[in-house]
Amino acid sequence: MDRITAKFGGTSLADAAHFRRVREILAGNLARRFVVVSAPGKRSGQDAKITDLLYDCHQAARAGGDVASAFAPVEVRFREILAGLNLNLDLSEEFRATQWAMERGAGQAFCVSRGEYFSGRIMAALLGLPFIDPAQCVFFDEHGQFDGEAAQRTLQEKLQGLPGAVMPGFYGGMPDGAVATFARGGSDISGAILARASGSAVYENWTDVSGVLAADPRVVENPAPIGCMTYTEVRELAYLGATVLHEDAIYPAKVAGIPIHICNTMAPGDGGTWIIARQDGPAGDITGLAGRRGYSAIQVEKERSNTEVGYCRKILSCLEKNGVPFEHLATGIGSVSLVAPTPLLDRHRQSLLADIQAAVHPDSLQILDNLAMIAVVGRGMAGRPQVAARLFSAVGEAGVNVRLIDQGTKELNIVLGVDEADYQRATNAIYNRFFAGKRKED
Ligand code: ASP
Repeated sequence: MDRITAKFGGTSLADAAHFRRVREILAGNLARRFVVVSAPGKRSGQDAKITDLLYDCHQAARAGGDVASAFAPVEVRFREILAGLNLNLDLSEEFRATQWAMERGAGQAFCVSRGEYFSGRIMAALLGLPFIDPAQCVFFDEHGQFDGEAAQRTLQEKLQGLPGAVMPGFYGGMPDGAVATFARGGSDISGAILARASGSAVYENWTDVSGVLAADPRVVENPAPIGCMTYTEVRELAYLGATVLHEDAIYPAKVAGIPIHICNTMAPGDGGTWIIARQDGPAGDITGLAGRRGYSAIQVEKERSNTEVGYCRKILSCLEKNGVPFEHLATGIGSVSLVAPTPLLDRHRQSLLADIQAAVHPDSLQILDNLAMIAVVGRGMAGRPQVAARLFSAVGEAGVNVRLIDQGTKELNIVLGVDEADYQRATNAIYNRFFAGKRKED
């Protein structure tokens, strides 16, 4: 039987009822034998995430504050979950040991990883599956960098002969035995790691929405979910803000060619989103769009700079010197425009302008602020005429002035820069043109 790895996010594990629902989902397909869990999330809008409470515990310990009071709500949440599940599992000793370690200066990674740890212990007991502690197999090097190949080898070995396993997400171990964590939301990465090591045919990522949406729901009302997309498309969308899956979760699945299926714990029957290597079937003109405000464009103009060898390099080395990363580069004859996130530019604004001035003596040099970038992504765009024309006519008819255009070389995306004031209007105009106003309920 094919194996499936199923990862459940914090909202899918908020209380005992959610743990039971997870058990039901797993029972619905016996191939789902490899399970990764997050720490319990919020039960309601006002509630706290366990991981946030654990950050507070570490803060309290560092400040010489009252760790017992900070840890109490964490322990209470887990005790409530245990009580609601009628499990024969007593974690009292471990709760005491954890608080003790925190009081004695345990590192931040150890403190915040305990949410996933306890969640994993409870889930393993509930399912009757072996518990795997990632501190002993999901390796990080001495600089805190995740070591994917070492993890793959060790985890694969550990899984030999096991009927299945439950592994906490978010953390792993360093060579000296200390705990290390991924960035926030990193249990998605752990899920992909377990999927790869267990040789799973599918990596199911269970969350609180029915898949990746074709546009940001805060900008477009009820956008439709994307049924199927490629690893590359999801990365393109994630980089400009579409956040369903941690973007580093793609790599382990991609190297092993494992499809990722985003599913909704509260609506398991919904189709969700499939993320796959490539889709041979026909693709829509565009797959989705994402965007973000808060960009600035450094605009450098100089007559005949197109004939000046090394011109761009000189400008780029000024950015490097000032530690300013750029995300887009648009060039014209005699003009170069570099787009960077405004907060990263702000600290170096004056010195960067002075350096560029000295390096290339431009005819004009200015920074255009308050830009929003919109990425229109779709593997179906390649070689298909009319997509760009429809895109620009949609934006033009909405009365939006496009300040900047950047098209990726693989024709997988077109990025537009517009004034922040036009962001919402432009996004809706593009969405309505390409998705013909399709909404989630349709
Ligand atoms: N619990 C961690 C967080 O809140 C990791 C995760 O849920 O993926 O970021």
